[in-house]
Amino acid sequence: MTLPAPGRPLQQVWRQQLPQPGPGQVRIRVAACGVCRTDLHIVDGELPWPGHAVVLGHEIVGRIGALGPGVAGLAVGEQVGVPWLGWTCGRCAHCLAGRENLCPQAEFTGWQREGGHAEQVLADARYVFAVPPGYDDAQAAPLLCAGLIGWRAYAMAGPQARRIGLYGFGAAAHLIAQVAVHQGREVMAFTRPGDAAAQALARSLGAAWAGDSGQAPPQPLDAALLFAPGGALVPEALRAVRPGGTVVCAGIHMSDIPSFPYAWLWGERRIVSVANLTRQDGEDFMRVAAAVPLQVRTHTYPLAQANQALDDLRAGRFAGAAVLVNASAT
Ligand SMILES: [Zn+2]
Ligand SMILES: [Zn+2]
Repeated sequence: MTLPAPGRPLQQVWRQQLPQPGPGQVRIRVAACGVCRTDLHIVDGELPWPGHAVVLGHEIVGRIGALGPGVAGLAVGEQVGVPWLGWTCGRCAHCLAGRENLCPQAEFTGWQREGGHAEQVLADARYVFAVPPGYDDAQAAPLLCAGLIGWRAYAMAGPQARRIGLYGFGAAAHLIAQVAVHQGREVMAFTRPGDAAAQALARSLGAAWAGDSGQAPPQPLDAALLFAPGGALVPEALRAVRPGGTVVCAGIHMSDIPSFPYAWLWGERRIVSVANLTRQDGEDFMRVAAAVPLQVRTHTYPLAQANQALDDLRAGRFAGAAVLVNASAT
């Protein structure tokens, strides 16, 4: 499924030949691939257009079909996952300091690099993860971005954050809520006003409180993690955190943040953003996902219905994570 230009529907395209993995690459038969808010930002032209048609999809789970020259440590038939971070330079100051998520030359899966809304995909073998045991293909897919970016945002809040607010209770929040509860934290879930299904899901996963995003939590938060792309949530979340608390913006794009009184930031409150992921995040999170283990709420579609999945995500028509599945690949 290719996106020819921003604002257009995805088109089904048939290629006659399997892509051949180059040096250091693997070819993966895609079994499942998540649909993420970032895909909508690319479709809507809110992220820079890479200058060529895009195959979306950066929560890929499948099996290795072929190894390119020089690939070691992976085998044909192995179940693997491919995340958003598809390649980094390895030489810049960020890469050398363990912050490859900030590499200015980084290439991302399903944006600059072809993604997993397809039957076959090539990936750099160094950016491929083993999938934790106990997850089937569709359940594992949301771990690759919703889980991973959620994990990086959660880690950014710090170990001292005991009461955590999650704004936007979709794919990422429903996974991170379980991690937080597993680690003995208290979770407060904020959804679109009146989204009873998402609030019920939050409570069923252990949230101590669930309500509308405009509401104040019953007690001040130590940290707020923002997974919804509305900039107006930033001052709202600031008012919900205690002095010294942190507001973490986890999305790659947000609408503009409205101005607000300095008093809301005063008291050493902090606003930070989370950008992408590192491979270390991936390894850390997959270990956590194996230990908890996470209940993944998926809403699946055949690959050919990718446009419907994007529409439903935009409209908030389901609770949990949208996943495209290839019945022929399993
Ligand atoms: Zn994503
Ligand atoms: Zn770099």
